[in-house]
Amino acid sequence: MDRNKYEVMRLTMERTAEALRKNNFYAVCAENREEALEIVENLIDENSSVAVGGSVTLSEVGILDLLRSGKYIFYDRYAEGLTRSEIENIHHKALSADYYLCSSNAVTEDGMLYNVDGNGNRVAAMIYGPENVIVVVGFNKIVTDIDEAKMRVKNIAAPSNAVRLSRNTPCTLTGKCADCKSADRICAVGVTISRPMRPERIKVVLVGEELGY
Ligand code: SF4
Repeated sequence: MDRNKYEVMRLTMERTAEALRKNNFYAVCAENREEALEIVENLIDENSSVAVGGSVTLSEVGILDLLRSGKYIFYDRYAEGLTRSEIENIHHKALSADYYLCSSNAVTEDGMLYNVDGNGNRVAAMIYGPENVIVVVGFNKIVTDIDEAKMRVKNIAAPSNAVRLSRNTPCTLTGKCADCKSADRICAVGVTISRPMRPERIKVVLVGEELGY
């Protein structure tokens, strides 16, 4: 990346991290995915139970490989051969794991997280689940405010996920949300986390790379 653009991105990340801290989040910036992986590893106690929300970012950063290394008790929703009911069981176990890891659809420069789920398992874990929630977010998901966060979900995050999941929805044809009533719709609940009650329960790692959707 061009040095000047990188500097603006770095400043935006620092400003966003500071706003998150003022809203009771723990927040830290990583230069790249390698540094983010190191930070995440240092945040998780070995032998603890861990679970993840659906996330392209976690895979891109190498966090799924870390969790499968044997150092943790990993409730792996992506393990081969799981039935639908076994996956649902893992989603329920995830709510009481020691750590929950996921990304966020958007992070606002005024220090909030915004997410839209289909099942709701990810937002449920984020708002009232494990004692420790670690959220890893590429700089591409930083937006000005909640209005822009909602637009980001409608025009980037949700259509991209619908394409990834081969859903039969209008957004997979146009790349844009049509607020559909489709049976394949992946957008069911939208949650803004504005100021968690428990300080630093939610730990946000902002990464200076484009990651996920
Ligand atoms: S509401 Fe429907 S059209 Fe809009 S992003 Fe979600 S799945 Fe796509």
